[in-house]
Amino acid sequence: MVLAMQGVSKAYQTAEGPLQVLQDIDLTLEAGRSLALTGESGSGKSTLLHLAAGLDGVDAGRIEIDGQDVTQLHDAERAALRRSVVGLVFQQFNLIPSLDVAANLAFHARLAGRHDPAWQTELTQRLGLVDLGKRYPEQLSGGQQQRVAIGRTLAARPKLVLADEPTGNLDEATGDAVLDLMLSLVVETGAALLMVTHSQRLAERLDGRIHLRSGRIA
Ligand code: ADP
Ligand code: MG
Repeated sequence: MVLAMQGVSKAYQTAEGPLQVLQDIDLTLEAGRSLALTGESGSGKSTLLHLAAGLDGVDAGRIEIDGQDVTQLHDAERAALRRSVVGLVFQQFNLIPSLDVAANLAFHARLAGRHDPAWQTELTQRLGLVDLGKRYPEQLSGGQQQRVAIGRTLAARPKLVLADEPTGNLDEATGDAVLDLMLSLVVETGAALLMVTHSQRLAERLDGRIHLRSGRIA
């Protein structure tokens, strides 16, 4: 199991008191499987993804990433696990503005100690980025930037890919093409994918689907 959540609850402290965002969430995700996470805006999707990435702590329950109980790890251990196992793709591309495309693609793989030039070259070709290696993020279209963001994540060969509306900033045709690529690359690398999407149509293309309603799995 690449990801397992059991009885997970999470509240945020706000000026008006605690805001219960997730309640009693159970989910499991195996290597090579993809799971769509849908729900209204504000239903807790991004919060769930942050917890699954070990970016934030739970109030109750257990989260295992690649067999390790992250709720028992210290911050530094959690960060190390995240670097070695998890790949994140966000709606905002979060590319590093001062690095060109090739350097952006290599960045996370280098951090994870898994820079593999042959794999990066293959990703560059498959993602249609061959002629863009020397450009900077500001010189790319939205679709191109998102392909770099996906390539950067996959270049490190993460076991768990967490994507938060990865095509939400793209028009439908571009978004579909980018998602196609991402799904086939994730399948080929044997990674597990948990993807937040607003789109019913996209959700149907993944192996499974969970829907959040008011912080619970509906
Ligand atoms: P979604 O991604 O489904 O739109 P989120 O997980 O981002 O939902 O947010 C769920 C709820 O938690 C929302 O009501 C949001 O305003 C609130 N929220 C998110 N992050 C924080 C935070 N850091 N502090 C307080 N409230 C937050
Ligand atoms: Mg969100």
